[in-house]
Amino acid sequence: MQELLKIRGLTVRFYTYEGVVEALTDVDLEMGRKETLGLVGETGCGKTMTALAILRLVAEPGRIESGAIYFSPDGDKEPVDLLKLKEAQMRAIRGSKISMVFQEPGAALNPVYTIGNQISEAILVHRRGEVAAKALSSVTRKLKEGEGLLGTLFKPFRRLQRRLYSDISRSERAFIPRIIGRIPLIRGLLWRLNSEAAKIAVEMLKEVEIPDAERVAKQYPHQLSGGMKQRAVIAMAIVCYPKLLIADEPTTSLDVTVQSQILELLDRLKDEFQSSVLYITHDLSVAAEICDRIGIMYAGRMCEVGSAEEIFKKPLHPYTRALLAAVPEPGKEPRPISGSVPDPLEPPPGCRFHPRCTKALDLCKYEVPGMLEVTKGHLVSCHVIEGGRVAGSD
Ligand code: SF4
Repeated sequence: MQELLKIRGLTVRFYTYEGVVEALTDVDLEMGRKETLGLVGETGCGKTMTALAILRLVAEPGRIESGAIYFSPDGDKEPVDLLKLKEAQMRAIRGSKISMVFQEPGAALNPVYTIGNQISEAILVHRRGEVAAKALSSVTRKLKEGEGLLGTLFKPFRRLQRRLYSDISRSERAFIPRIIGRIPLIRGLLWRLNSEAAKIAVEMLKEVEIPDAERVAKQYPHQLSGGMKQRAVIAMAIVCYPKLLIADEPTTSLDVTVQSQILELLDRLKDEFQSSVLYITHDLSVAAEICDRIGIMYAGRMCEVGSAEEIFKKPLHPYTRALLAAVPEPGKEPRPISGSVPDPLEPPPGCRFHPRCTKALDLCKYEVPGMLEVTKGHLVSCHVIEGGRVAGSD
């Protein structure tokens, strides 16, 4: 597996008035290129926190205490530790190399701007140089065509525009255009940037299979259905063809038919842009549909990681087995997991699953199990794994 992301010993804590919340403890995880990895577990197990830590967006009073997140977007270069980057370097990665689609599309969109405006804004932030190059070629063409009285009148104005677009296309942070872009009366000189970005925004909407994209670009979020909003959010997330797309329960609020369309769309985009997808879900059936590999999390720790096939056909960790047994199936009585998720302020010592585990030993109550590679790529953190099986299981 060619590695895109490698997380080692990631620990995140929240310092609250009630005490210290153990959000993530010593999490290890790898992701390959062009792979879809599912993070599965109950609410509060640390799935979203892992994603936020990758983006370094853990909000106060949370703190990334220790660990490393190695990211190698360009296979031929040395991986960088995201936790060691300066904030400005991290900003350049967010949205361009790694982007995220959130659970609630309504909350991710600004209600007072049109869909087209919001996508254009993302394009102007992340692809400004490319947009300026398009604007430059359009102005240059107009200058060549410029004949007659109007052409002559507009010539000095277009020459100035050409100079500005050429500056931006050489350096996205060119000083003069940046200053001009901030002065209300003369920033109109750069209007072609917005119009080129708007054209790309419509292309992005077409890319995510939104019918009548030109019309939708002019609409506001409240005028769209849940599925259409989620497509628009995905369009915004992929404007830079990110190497890693994090999808945090993107289909939870959608009905089943729209859900499967969004899953198909993510799968197609992943292949088309050669990206990897980190898919966060509590729904095992969704993970089965889309993921190549799956990581099962419990109370801020990683329990089991393996190929989707191994996780569904040969689950080893008692928690994975309990999760699978709890999935309702026609004609079968679902078996809910007894007990409840531990309080993150006071997680149980030893294996955090021990108060609910039917296989627990005395050792489990005080010693944290390590990660054991049972078969190639299938890792399990449990004291009673013997010869690749949970002792006492059938
Ligand atoms: Fe159960 Fe012990 Fe394994 Fe934890 S380590 S899952 S308590 S058997």
